[in-house]
Amino acid sequence: MNPHRNVLRISIFFFLLVLLLPAATSAQAIPSPEEFFGFQMGADRKLAHWDRLLEYYDLLDEQSDRVHVMDMGESTLGNRFIVLFISSPENLARFDEYKRMNAILSDPRGHSEAEIENAIENGKVVFVQSFGLHSSEVAASQTIAEVTYDFATRNDEGTLEILENAIAIMIPCLNPDGEIMITEWYNQWVGTEYEGAGLPYLYHHYIGHDNNRDAFMRATIESEHGARIMFREWVPQGYIDHHQMGSYTARMAIPPYAEPIRPEADPLVWREMSWYGAHIGYKMDEADLKGAIGAAIYSGWGHFGFHWITPFHNIAGMLTEGASARLATPIYIHPDQLGGSRQFPEYEAQTTFPNPWPGGWWHVRDIVDMQKVATVAPLEIAAKNRKTVLRNAYNKASRQIQRGLDGEVKAFVIPAEQHDPLTMKKLINLLYGQGVTVEQAGSEFIHEGRVYGVGSFVVSMAQPKRGLIRWVLGQTYYPDNTFTRDRDGNPIRPYDLSTDNFAEFMGVRADPVMTPVEAPLTRVADWLDPDGEVTAGSNGYVMDGSLNDAFHAVNLLFEEGASVRRVAHGGEGLNPGDFIVEPGVSADAVAEIAAETGVDFAPLRGEMPEASYPIEKQRIGMYHRYLGGNMDEGWTRLLLENFDFDYTKMLDRHILEGDLHEKYDVIVLAADNKSMMTGIRAAGGGGGYGRAPDPSTIPPDFRSGFGQAGIDALQDFVRNGGTLVTFAQAGDLPIDEFDLPVRNAVAGMWGNEFWSPGSTLKVDVNNRDPYAFGMPEDALALFLASGQVYETVSGPASAGVKRIVTYKDRDILQSGWLLGEEAIANKAAMVSVEHGEGTVVLIGFRPQHRVQTHGTFKLFFNALMAVPDGH
Ligand SMILES: [Zn+2]
Repeated sequence: MNPHRNVLRISIFFFLLVLLLPAATSAQAIPSPEEFFGFQMGADRKLAHWDRLLEYYDLLDEQSDRVHVMDMGESTLGNRFIVLFISSPENLARFDEYKRMNAILSDPRGHSEAEIENAIENGKVVFVQSFGLHSSEVAASQTIAEVTYDFATRNDEGTLEILENAIAIMIPCLNPDGEIMITEWYNQWVGTEYEGAGLPYLYHHYIGHDNNRDAFMRATIESEHGARIMFREWVPQGYIDHHQMGSYTARMAIPPYAEPIRPEADPLVWREMSWYGAHIGYKMDEADLKGAIGAAIYSGWGHFGFHWITPFHNIAGMLTEGASARLATPIYIHPDQLGGSRQFPEYEAQTTFPNPWPGGWWHVRDIVDMQKVATVAPLEIAAKNRKTVLRNAYNKASRQIQRGLDGEVKAFVIPAEQHDPLTMKKLINLLYGQGVTVEQAGSEFIHEGRVYGVGSFVVSMAQPKRGLIRWVLGQTYYPDNTFTRDRDGNPIRPYDLSTDNFAEFMGVRADPVMTPVEAPLTRVADWLDPDGEVTAGSNGYVMDGSLNDAFHAVNLLFEEGASVRRVAHGGEGLNPGDFIVEPGVSADAVAEIAAETGVDFAPLRGEMPEASYPIEKQRIGMYHRYLGGNMDEGWTRLLLENFDFDYTKMLDRHILEGDLHEKYDVIVLAADNKSMMTGIRAAGGGGGYGRAPDPSTIPPDFRSGFGQAGIDALQDFVRNGGTLVTFAQAGDLPIDEFDLPVRNAVAGMWGNEFWSPGSTLKVDVNNRDPYAFGMPEDALALFLASGQVYETVSGPASAGVKRIVTYKDRDILQSGWLLGEEAIANKAAMVSVEHGEGTVVLIGFRPQHRVQTHGTFKLFFNALMAVPDGH
């Protein structure tokens, strides 16, 4: 017997054994994504499901000492939300030490020069990237699996240098729920005539595509996970969020951003974005991946989602936007379908776009290839220049502190005395959640001639996050210049709102002060969680109707079977809108509700006031359509749930059942285009489904629109005593179809005639009207481009119109951008209109926008509490 043959046999035996062994433990045995999932990441018509991706990451965590999986907790719908830490085994073993060094550089206050120099000398670059925030942009959550595998297995010089010098923190899916929804939806229809059809509902349970508008106020758990990583536990040097855009322009938008930028970040941040972006583009063209463009399409002044808020945390916060296919289905693009965009006037080569893609088939794999470069290239250059990046982390932070010391505004003082002190405390929590240093005064103090009560808060500008504080607490004027006007002088719509201001949105007073505050202050070291005080009274309790949380308390009291009344007219220490809890509810329940909501329960002194009326739990219907879902509706659901309002989600069929007044007291139409709700084509042939897709491309069960029958059912509901509440453009439906005696004064106006793209506008509030109970007389309304402003139409029905909120007569703009204020001066921002036995409440602005405008929540909440007839 040939001995060699035996050796060969034994070798084959062992080779087969290795193949057959389940999940071998040596590094060589780590399966590639292709081996694990059975297809290459980004393969046509294939999507890896989040549950399988989790299994893969757990396997990498187990088999590679370069990958560590950290569980952050759950997603909104209870799926696992994880973060991957990728670095050398040595670095991962000394994780806490590097975290400390990173903290010193991102906030050098109180640290010695030696500590700072040590952190620069020995620290590691920290770089966060996130994927799959927008679930219909399917490539990114697939890309990162392959990138992670490469880091776990490759031993080339470039990979080892990154592992040695950097800690890459990857959020492999910022919206796991949506990844699951889209993957299952896509797989359900692949191979049918509906392959590639859009998801008919929101891909985040509450907020859909707006989940990138939430880093600002963190209303969802996913945003809080991201904030914990980026704003508090780690403040990285760089951050990229990987997205997809439309299909018919460049193949990928890479850093830096286009004009205009939002000022007040450290300038190094913008230089870093250009630096990283240049390297990404450079590596793409090295690999002959055509079609990357920088400094175009996405302006630097955007919303405060993660990639646009991070610059004000001294993080080079960036975006990539790959051109989309149809979910996982490839598309064919002809050259004449390709066009330009912002700072990309023609689809032709330009400095920032030297390698135009010529058209042809476009596959998800093409996006994956580009995203892989966009993920690794910035890590490569940051690792190579580790000390420079770290020194500049220190420079960014320390220079922002110095600017805070030198600048005109030295601090914002948030007085204890507020219209709604509990909402003010929520604002303090928002600042804390952003990692901002907030201090509290232990005693009353006088500053710049004002008296501030004990418990007032001070936010000094002399801190690394000065840039952020400036925007979330200070007045904002969106730029009006050649970057924001087209060639004809018409304003160009900002990417999102034109202001993002906690204080203005929340109705909280925050005073800018020009001299440093001298009072003794203590740093806020934890979330504020105020407990309400209960003072027993034999006649019952009073709750302050100016507190948003009082509405929450009322909803909880309803669950306890309590009898609740509202004060109709003030007097004897009571204000219109205050809530009275009648005796009979258990003391334990009251104590619990006070603890949960923070609302004080004061004793009712004297008899039950005559000028009060009983309120009962209302049956609330929230209209819900398909066609991709309505984000304003989703946010409204979240708001209702946060305050424990019960509601019914109404689909078309619920409206079409009719007799709605027997089932509902209040129906809410969130901001929406009329034709998106009804499915009826607009008169004159225009409009059609608005922005909606062609119905024939939608699986039959998910086509929506309640039609004329639905309009009639809604009108019957109001005529029979129901209350219909509409936000912004949804007002078109009752105005047009019910023939209400009001018109939208800004219908069809745009540009220089009238323009208010997401601005806070000053309004007068008639807070003696039950729909405005608890509001201050002066407030700010957040007006978006699709908003409405109301004028009464003369005629017999006009007596039933009540102007509840009215724009000021001049100087209407608080923050943002406003052109043509004459168009809205003295006109109504919110009206109630009697119609038959019922009422239509038209709110032309956004009283509950993204669960952010706490200052006007009550204008909505009041409509959800019984309002007496003929109020
Ligand atoms: Zn996106």
